[in-house]
This record gives sequence, C-alpha cells and structure tokens, in this order.
Amino acid sequence: MQSPADFAGRCITVAGLGVSGVPAARALAGLGARVTVVNSSDGERERAQAAELEQLGVTVRLGDGDTLPEGTELVVTTPGWKPSSPLFAAAGKAGVEVWGDVELAWRLRGPDAADWLAVTGTNGKTTTVRMLASILEAAGLRTAAVGNIGVPLVDVVLGEGQPDGASYDVLAVELSSYQLHWAPSVRAHSAAVLNLAPDHLDWHGSMAAYAADKGRIYEGNTVACVYNAADPATEELVRAADVEEGCRAIGFTLGTPGPSQVGVVEGILVDRAFVENRQQQAQELAEVSDVTPAAPHNIANALAAAALARAYGVAPAAVRDGLRAFHPDAHRIQHIADLGDVRYVDDSKATNTHAAQASLAAYEHIVWIAGGLAKGATFDELVQKSAARLRGVVLIGADRALIREALARHAPDVPVVDLDRTDTGAMSEAVREASRLAEPGDTVLLAPACASMDMFVNYNKRGEAFADAVGELTARDH
Ligand code: ADP
Repeated sequence: MQSPADFAGRCITVAGLGVSGVPAARALAGLGARVTVVNSSDGERERAQAAELEQLGVTVRLGDGDTLPEGTELVVTTPGWKPSSPLFAAAGKAGVEVWGDVELAWRLRGPDAADWLAVTGTNGKTTTVRMLASILEAAGLRTAAVGNIGVPLVDVVLGEGQPDGASYDVLAVELSSYQLHWAPSVRAHSAAVLNLAPDHLDWHGSMAAYAADKGRIYEGNTVACVYNAADPATEELVRAADVEEGCRAIGFTLGTPGPSQVGVVEGILVDRAFVENRQQQAQELAEVSDVTPAAPHNIANALAAAALARAYGVAPAAVRDGLRAFHPDAHRIQHIADLGDVRYVDDSKATNTHAAQASLAAYEHIVWIAGGLAKGATFDELVQKSAARLRGVVLIGADRALIREALARHAPDVPVVDLDRTDTGAMSEAVREASRLAEPGDTVLLAPACASMDMFVNYNKRGEAFADAVGELTARDH
C-alpha cells in the first residue's frame, strides 16, 4: 500500500485510540479502508472516542487489545504499544505487517510532499523542533512543527497544507523512539539525534535497542546527519546508518567547531559546516544572547536546529531572526519571579535525571526542589555532578528517599528538607522551605528528575503549583 488509493476496501486494524490512534483511524476510514480499532482499556474517554469513530463507519473493540481481528491485512499501531504485545505476535504469525502512525503518514505523502527535517533525542526534542520551525519561518518557508509534539503527521500529510490550501515546503518533525521503532521506511532530508541517555528501557528492552531505534532517524538521509559532538553515542549512530551518497555528518558543539561542525566562539554561534571553505572559513549565525534561555543545553538545541536549517539551505540571517523570535514553552526553565535577590525557575518538564542535570548545570548556586516518581532511575551520577552547586535541597514525592540516599552518599554536607507529604499543598511548603535555604544571588530551581503523577495530574500542573507557591511568598520571607 503505497498511495492513498491503495487503501480503499482494505481491512486495517488500528492498535490504540488516543492522540495518534484516532487521527489514523479517521484518515484510513476517509480513504475507504475497513477499519477496526482495538484498545485494551474501556473507560469513559475511550467510549467517547469510540462513539466519534463509529459515526465514520469504524468498528471499535474496547477491552481487548490482544486478539487480531479476522481478515486483518495491515496493523497500524499507536506509539505506546510495546513491541512485545500479543497483538503483534499474532500479526507476525499471520504474516501481517505492522506500521506506526508515522510510517502510515510517510506512505501517504503525495509526490510533491514537503521534505522532513527530523529531530529525536532523549531530551530537547520539542524545544529544538520549535526553534527549527521558527528559523524556517524566518526564512520565508511554509512550515510547521509536527509529529510527537502533538500534531499528528497523518493529518498534516493528508491535509498537506495550510488553511489557504497551499502545501508546506518543509516540515520540522519531532519523532520519539517509539515512533521510530515502527517507521522503517521514513527517509528524512536531514536529521538530528540530540543526546542519548537511558529512558523508556522497559518499552525497548535494552539501551542498545533504544539507541538503535533512535538511530533509525538517520537512515536514508540525503543531506546531513546532525550529531552531538559531546555525546559519542550519537556519532556512533551516524556511522552505523545507511545514508544517501553525499550525505554528510555534521557535529554540534558548545566549544570551537572543527570543520563540518557548528559551535560557539566567543559568544557567537558559528557554522563551519555549510560554508564554501570549511577548512578556513566560519560563518557567524547568531549570538548566544539570541537564544532564550541561554543555558548550555539550550544553546546545544539551538545549534542542532541551526545545523538542520543550514542543511536545508537557510541563510544565516534567518537563523538569527528565527532564534530571536523563539520563546520556549512553559515549564522548561521558565523564569517565574525574582524575590529579594533570589530567582525562581520552573523546569517541571525535567522529568528524568538527564534533563535535570542539564538544568542544574545552568545555574551556579541552587536550592533544588526534586522528587516524584523515579521510574526506575538512579540518582548517584546526577547528585555527584551537581553537588558543588547545591545550596540546599527540598525533596517531595513518592520516591524522594532515593534522592535523599544519593545526597547522603555524595553531598553529605548539603542541607536537605524532606517533606513527608504528597498532597498537592506540599508544593507551597516546599517553596517556603526553599526560600529559607536560599541566599542572595541563588536560584530556587524546580527540576524534579522524576515524573509528577504521584502528586499532580501532569508536569504542567506541577509547574503551575510551583508558580502559585512562588506567588504566595512575600519579599518578607527573604
Ligand atoms: P523533549 O521533547 O525531548 O521532552 P523538551 O524540549 O520538552 O524535550 O525539554 C524537556 C526537558 O529536557 C527540559 O525541561 C530541560 O530540562 C531538558 N532539556 C532540554 N534540552 C536538553 C538537552 N539538549 N539536553 C539535556 N536536557 C535538555
């Protein structure tokens, strides 16, 4: 099935509802396929989604995600489903292919479809994709930030277009490791792997399998494979990839760039990759101060976005304008307030240790608010690397003992307040305690290194609780 017409009358099973299952089922039904959606859970939300799809002629089977419907010719899965799910074993046995929603989108692209500039990595994907879209827009290109960012690719590809009916020139595509796992034939114009740290290992089975799925993003690239010079595992993935003749490996570095790299020289983002004479020439792209926030990991994100844009032929001035126009989403190193001489920063999105480490590296003296659901993580490396910056620590959430123990091992002199409550009001107390520990010039940083669901609906709500708690503080507390 290679073109939209091929799907008419075919019997297709969609595994899972939700943000990508519903659009996939809707799109397939629109193409005339006979669609069955299977979903293991059977709650109120699922029933509402099912009712909507049934109106389009889709069959929805709630409460059984394991049995392959009779006559299935293709399974399209949503990213959450583990490769070990019984449904896929059944599909394998029946000789039925399994595609992810991204694979489906790729196969549905028309002949003049937009190129994809793709981004993956353990952390920084959304930020980088948004920066990239901002740069491409500044260059006058018709573009959008799509994919794992919350905009289903199937919708983008089938609508392939903007309200005025014009099609996109190029898309800034965020891809998760799950999506890459199920997208064997996607071929990006250029792609970047920002970094690699253990995450989602329960889904992938091992670090090697996780890395291999991330590395899929480089397969068949035509112009550039962008890697992180500070993270050799990403360069390794470029080496392992089978790319088009002439495709180049481009590194990004926070240091002085070598030939075929982008990097930083005296506060300037410079390009030594897409210039005529890369042995001797360097092209200024932007200033570090054009990037918000100008924290090291975010400069790295900006360099990756710049490299992809330059690979697409964007002029240096548009890189600068696009970066200046970019503002990060909430809860990502978001400056909340200065009270007294103390800065309050919300990085609630730092839900794993790798992200929290980047965030802690951005400030000199920190009162750190951490804790939540650890998802199997260990905290020794994070605490070791950050110990010298810690003025104090306030621990919240279900797995705070793990962080407390790591602090006792590697930072025994740092004062720790351990809050033995998991009700939502705990954040107010945490912020009050943090403000007591803070000295003038310090930063109170919410970078939990943990998921939020033990205490909050999601990381957004956790960040909002932090901001509210900061609002409750008065300058008198300092
Ligand atoms: P993702 O889409 O990969 O989850 P985001 O751009 O939403 O990434 O950022 C998530 C969190 O990861 C941020 O709040 C920040 O703490 C951290 N982060 C962002 N960029 C990087 C990076 N390049 N390296 C490490 N951590 C990062």
